[in-house]
Order: sequence, then C-alpha cells, then structure tokens
Amino acid sequence: MDIHEYQAKEILRGFGVPVPRGGLAYSPEQAGYRARALGGAAWVVKAQIHSGGRGEAGGVKLCRSEEEVRDFAATLFGKRLVTKQTGAAGKEVYRVWVEAASDIAQELYLGFVLDRKSERIMIVASAHGGMEIEDLAESDPDSLCRMVIDPATGLCEFQARELAFALGLRGGLVAQMVSTLRACYRAYRELDAMMVEINPLVVTHAGEIVALDAKMSFDTNALFRRPQIAELRDASQEDPRESMAADHGLAYVGLDGDIGCIINGAGLAMATMDMIQLAGGAPANFLDIGGGASPERVTQAFRTVLADRNVSVVLVNIFAGINRCDWVAEGVVQAYRELGLTLPVVVRLSGTNVEEGRRILRESGLPLITADTLAEAAERAVAARPKLAA
Ligand code: GDP
Ligand code: MN
Repeated sequence: MDIHEYQAKEILRGFGVPVPRGGLAYSPEQAGYRARALGGAAWVVKAQIHSGGRGEAGGVKLCRSEEEVRDFAATLFGKRLVTKQTGAAGKEVYRVWVEAASDIAQELYLGFVLDRKSERIMIVASAHGGMEIEDLAESDPDSLCRMVIDPATGLCEFQARELAFALGLRGGLVAQMVSTLRACYRAYRELDAMMVEINPLVVTHAGEIVALDAKMSFDTNALFRRPQIAELRDASQEDPRESMAADHGLAYVGLDGDIGCIINGAGLAMATMDMIQLAGGAPANFLDIGGGASPERVTQAFRTVLADRNVSVVLVNIFAGINRCDWVAEGVVQAYRELGLTLPVVVRLSGTNVEEGRRILRESGLPLITADTLAEAAERAVAARPKLAA
C-alpha cells in the first residue's frame, strides 16, 4: 500500500528525519493561507498523488508570492495528473502540500528496498539524486552505492558512516547523514514498510541535510497489525476495480483485454491467462475467489469483474479442493439471475462435488456455456466473444 508524500514526511519526521516545514491544503485559499502561516519568501507547492515524476509532469512548483501559491494550487485541484508512473489515466489531485522552499546545494538519492536475493533490506544511495532511480541506474550506474543490512544487528553506525563517506559527504554532514539513515531504517522495520525512498535528499547551502521528497509503501499483509498505517489508505489513488475487490477481501488484478476471469488460486489464474492468450484472446482481469468461497462470495466476484466495462465474456474456472463446486455453481446461478446477466458465461468446474455442481448448472435452465478442461474453457470463452464489426 502506498501513501502520500506528506504522510511519509510526517512519519519520517517522527523517527528523526529532517523534513521541511509545511502544511496540507484542500483548496487554493487554504494553500495561500499555509504559505502565509509558514512565512518566508519562497514556497514549494506539490500535488499529492501516489506517484513520482510529479515535477516533470507540472505537479510541483517553486512559488515566490502567496498569490502565486494560490494560483498554482488552483490549477492542480481536481486535475488528473499524468506522470511517467501513473499511466494515461493519471491520478486526481485532491490535496496539495505547501512547504517552505529549501536552498539546494546538492541533491542525493536514498532508497531502502527489500532485496529478494539476499532476503534483506538493502540501501541504495547516490550522490546524484533528483532523477528517477531507473534513469540513474542507466545513465550513471557507477554512482550507485548499495549496502545490505543484517537484520540481527540492524544498520550499525559504522556502516552508516561508511555510506555517508561513499556519497562524498564530509564534516558535520556525516553525522546528519548517519542519523538520517538510521532513522529511515528504523521507520522501515518498525512499520513493516516495503520501500522508503527519499529523492532528492538534499544538502542545503546552510549545510543541512533535508528530505525534500518522501515515498513509502507498506506490506499489505502486515496492515492488520499497523492500524495507524492502514488508516492512511487513500482509495482515490487506487485502481477503482482493485479497491472494490479489496473491500470484499477478494484479490483482483486489472488487465487490458475483454475476458473477465473468476478463478480460485493465483497459480490456476496464471495458467488460465496463458490458455486464453493461446486461444487468441486477452483477459480483462482476474479475480481470485480463494478457498471456501460461498455462493454470496461468487456473486460478489461477478459484480467486481463486471464493474470493468471492457468485459464481454466471463470465464469461471474453478479447481475445487477446499472450495466446493456445488457452492460455486449456486453462486454462478445466483449471480446470473440477480445481476440479470446477458453476456456469455463460460464455466469450468473440477474437483470436490463436481457432479453436484454440474447438475445445478444444467438444471438452472440458464444459457451457461460449460467446459470440462481448461483448454476447452479458454477456447469457448474466446469463441463466445461478440464478433467485432470488420
Ligand atoms: P517528484 O517529481 O514527484 O519526485 O517530486 P519531488 O518532490 O522530487 O520534486 C521534484 C523536484 O522539484 C525536485 O527534484 C527538486 O529539484 C524540485 N524541488 C522540490 N522542492 C524544492 C525546494 O524546496 N527548492 C527547490 N529549489 N527545488 C525544489
Ligand atoms: Mn522525487
């Protein structure tokens, strides 16, 4: 789960990371008021969306008067900001962060990620920040310093100092960097983060280290024990199809095709995607109903899949172990009637109570298309798509 920059800054500040003073605004007037309350002669106005690359996309501006702050904020509210990371649909701006501008002498890059190979937290840093890490890795790979942290010791002071030196920092900046690095590491560990990225982390002309930007994302599976983090979720920034599924405890992945897929288990879902592609079709999404799904859950799965307007066929593929084919069949019949479906529905059931499941489908009298094997189901789903006018 991602959070906003202003939320990440608030969290990191609590752990001891220096961040600029700032305030949140929900309207242009409030943005102007924030600038006045902060004082000084320059402010940075920043669109709060779950994405980086806002600077390039026109979502960040250095302003020199209260009026300029208000006017720029007015252009942001309600706008769908399209960045390199958002995709063409962009993300809507509801909140704007106004902060006291920093006087930048140097921009550094600092990231904490989970390194799957070493199964440890890895710090990635560079003396050349500001640009995205992917671009940095391409244009200036030698500038990247990497350090893997042993969970038994945590980030030791000597390691943090080593990293500060490797970044070319000297004098009083070293101690500031050490404390910043250790604060980020603690925040990462104590809050079950998956990623902490500060880009840029700047050195000011006054010789201070400040986090000008902050990005944090969290392990969704650990949110149950981090209620204060779970509260920061902003559904307006998520794919609406995915948040609807999450609200019902269903795992959903949105794709670009037109065949909606209701499946149990991620492995079977992957195999089904492959078979659809092989048969010449393209999946619109897949929804994993998990184990032990009740008829109500199956109906909810239909609702979620059909919320995607691109869906022209639904393929239900269940290999029932913990699940029961009769329950799934009841769910399909219930969904068909309750939702008044008219589009083709292909059902393939296998496993526990399969005979009973097939009987329920047969005796429902509904025009369901059934299949015995996965390959057959995929072919029938592709064949059932409404023919596009040539
Ligand atoms: P991103 O583009 O979404 O990653 O947003 P950032 O928060 O990183 O801001 C983009 C860029 O705006 C930064 O790389 C800085 O160059 C610039 N910027 C942000 N805050 C300040 C500031 O306080 N002073 C100055 N001079 N530039 C800033
Ligand atoms: Mn940034």
